[in-house]
Amino acid sequence: MGAQRDDGGYLTVRVVESIRLSPSLIRVVFDASNHGGFNTSGVPDEIVHLYFPADGESAPPEMTRRNGVLGHHDGVARECRNYTVRRWDGDRITIDFVDHVGGVAADWARSAEPGMALGMWGTRSWYGPPADTEWMLLIADLPGLPALCRALEQLPAGLRAHAIVEVAHDDDVQDMRSAASVTMDWRVAGNGRAPSELSDAVRAYEIPTGTGYVWFGGEASAGRAVRKYFRGDVGIPAKRLAIVGYWRDDKEAWLERYERVADSLIDDYERIALTGMGEAEAEIHWDEILERAGL
Ligand SMILES: Cc1cc2nc3c(=O)[nH]c(=O)nc-3n(C[C@H](O)[C@H](O)[C@H](O)COP(=O)(O)OP(=O)(O)OC[C@H]3O[C@@H](n4cnc5c(N)ncnc54)[C@H](O)[C@@H]3O)c2cc1C
Repeated sequence: MGAQRDDGGYLTVRVVESIRLSPSLIRVVFDASNHGGFNTSGVPDEIVHLYFPADGESAPPEMTRRNGVLGHHDGVARECRNYTVRRWDGDRITIDFVDHVGGVAADWARSAEPGMALGMWGTRSWYGPPADTEWMLLIADLPGLPALCRALEQLPAGLRAHAIVEVAHDDDVQDMRSAASVTMDWRVAGNGRAPSELSDAVRAYEIPTGTGYVWFGGEASAGRAVRKYFRGDVGIPAKRLAIVGYWRDDKEAWLERYERVADSLIDDYERIALTGMGEAEAEIHWDEILERAGL
């Protein structure tokens, strides 16, 4: 499933409020006034790219356009991470950050106080159920939970939805609001603390009759297993599936292994891509290439 991108623009946002939502989630509300040309798409899994200050900066500078390309263009390396817009009310943008060990973004969220600033560029989204969808399966771990909540809040009455959500603590479970008929399967697992149960839970789910749509937002290898099951075993059409890898467990070790073989994997992928396959097929081949390489 391809991504939809809105090259809206860049803005500097300031923290208005930061609250501890649950043991694993920190909610930060940003003031995003003056977001000319940069608006919500309304799609539940829309993200913004957050730019964190470099050492010695209180905030990243405004981006400028050089040769038509919007960027910082100052040679300073700044960390950038993707985060879901949990809520966008006028000038207020709410983001729920997972509080995990390590990481520029998680460290920043733990220290967030009113007045602190970040750069924000957006937006992009993947969720897109076809109009004839009769049932929906939504799967997430903690980073995918904000998008999953937003999706449930937008579902219409009469639609059947099942959600499988992995959290780190019992108290991370949230109250869900939806006009649709929703069943929830909460699990305390995965999230870098224990093996993930998402793939097994998906396989145990009895697929309803009628036209469905499956959305996944969570750890990349769990997402790969879910894509393989739905495309390979179930045979669901690509337009009824959006699998988005949100993060990677033990990213540093994975990257080290990946970098050792990246050139040959990319060669393999390019050979297959030259056959002119579509994006959905290419995704499956890339999954297979990674799996063969033990990644
Ligand atoms: C489309 C999209 C939407 C996303 N939406 C959200 C969101 O709304 N809220 C949110 O919290 N995250 C979200 N994420 C995930 C977030 O971008 C990543 O978790 C990101 O890596 C966090 O950056 P960091 O600097 O804290 O950690 P990094 O520097 O990337 O990683 C440092 C270490 O932490 C580990 N790590 C990273 N993330 C997690 C995690 N969640 N749990 C346990 N260990 C982790 C890594 O494996 C690594 O070992 C989203 C990602 C995508 C692609």
